[in-house]
Amino acid sequence: MRHVIVIGAGIVGLSTAHHLLREGAEVTLIDRDPAGDKASFGNAGGIAVTEVIPASVPGLFFKVPGWLLDPLGPLAIRPAHAPKLIPWFLRFSKAGSAAEVKRIAAALAALNGRVYEDLLPLLAENGLMGELHQRGALTVYEHEEAFKKEAGQWDLKRSLGIEVRVLSGSETREMEPALGESISRGVFTPQWSHVNDPKVLVDKLRESLVARGLRILVGEVSSIQPGIGNGSVALGLSHGHQVLADKAVVAAGAWSGILARGVGDKVLLESERGYNTTIADPGVKLSREIIFAERHFVAAPLSCGLRIGGAAEFGGLHAAANFKRSQALTQLAALYLPALKTEGGTFWAGHRPATPDSLPVIGRSTHNPSVIYAFGHGHLGLTQGATTGRLASDIALGKPPLIDLRPYAISRFN
Ligand SMILES: Cc1cc2nc3c(=O)[nH]c(=O)nc-3n(C[C@H](O)[C@H](O)[C@H](O)COP(=O)(O)OP(=O)(O)OC[C@H]3O[C@@H](n4cnc5c(N)ncnc54)[C@H](O)[C@@H]3O)c2cc1C
Repeated sequence: MRHVIVIGAGIVGLSTAHHLLREGAEVTLIDRDPAGDKASFGNAGGIAVTEVIPASVPGLFFKVPGWLLDPLGPLAIRPAHAPKLIPWFLRFSKAGSAAEVKRIAAALAALNGRVYEDLLPLLAENGLMGELHQRGALTVYEHEEAFKKEAGQWDLKRSLGIEVRVLSGSETREMEPALGESISRGVFTPQWSHVNDPKVLVDKLRESLVARGLRILVGEVSSIQPGIGNGSVALGLSHGHQVLADKAVVAAGAWSGILARGVGDKVLLESERGYNTTIADPGVKLSREIIFAERHFVAAPLSCGLRIGGAAEFGGLHAAANFKRSQALTQLAALYLPALKTEGGTFWAGHRPATPDSLPVIGRSTHNPSVIYAFGHGHLGLTQGATTGRLASDIALGKPPLIDLRPYAISRFN
């Protein structure tokens, strides 16, 4: 039996462990805090299979100065971290050419197109089908001009098989009566779904996997080296222990870049911190997730309350969170949901693992073929977790890939 170590107990690591266990592997999952807070807990809960447009698109850079001048706008860069971001942003700007956007969108669609095929059995086999709601999502616009500017992106989505229904303002309000009169346009994407509560999903999945034989080791992986014997790996833990296995999967979210660089692989990975507020008693009812296109935030009806989330803050992994961003998002939401009760929300912030081309890293290390990468999912880790887990598990067990993995190779950063 193959022994595979998975580093990271977020949605990607747990999904990888699920597929490995299914294939009969012996699996050890290592996390410094397996049940602790992480991006996989506090996200907006969207299975956003329709989101295939990368973050970098033509014309985006003209908007950046305005966003940066707004202290609580959708984008922020902590000054102390700015110099370290230069290589990442240079690559980000290259990813925004029309040809690159088309290529990246096709690669994201190839992953997202598999999501339900991998996610539904994962949920069913772990007794979690009740956690998913397939009710689509609504992207809403205040100004017709903003909708027209994104028409090309909607066409690209359509060309990649994504179902798109354009609605008038009143049709949009018929679907979601809590929306105010300022909404002039909506786009319904029925393939999107959402989960009850991402924390509940991850907790229940972890517990189910332990019951199925997953071994969890609490510890921080500090090094990954070739092990003794052909194809094996040796993982050093910060408390001095060493663990050996046939393969290791790095699914450590925004911290994965540190581990990959230790193996010898070049990678551009940043923390793109997101914020949200969850209001248990919001005074409004939504049936599905709403994406507010012009202001770059979402409102998601979760079982723990209405979660209003967004923001992209680049400040590294150690800067203290600025929860004024969570507050600002709630104030924004109140502009579009007039009956929203904004008091009493719970604030949260989490590190999205962001690559400059919006594509995850899935594949073998170029330095140690026994190390497999599964990280860098940015805004789509919950969505792509099950599929990435399936792909990473197949690589670890030497099975042929289900899709062309070249767009996700770590060698693209060489
Ligand atoms: C505000 C916000 C909203 C979002 N909304 C959505 C959404 O609606 N839909 C969607 O698909 N995605 C969404 N995302 C993105 C999604 O949450 C992430 O992409 C995803 O959770 C990343 O999962 P992960 O398993 O890669 O990493 P994480 O959840 O961050 O888990 C990584 C784990 O690795 C562990 N770890 C790290 N380094 C080490 C080490 N050296 N040794 C041991 N353990 C280690 C950490 O302790 C952690 O438990 C959102 C993110 C944010 C911030």
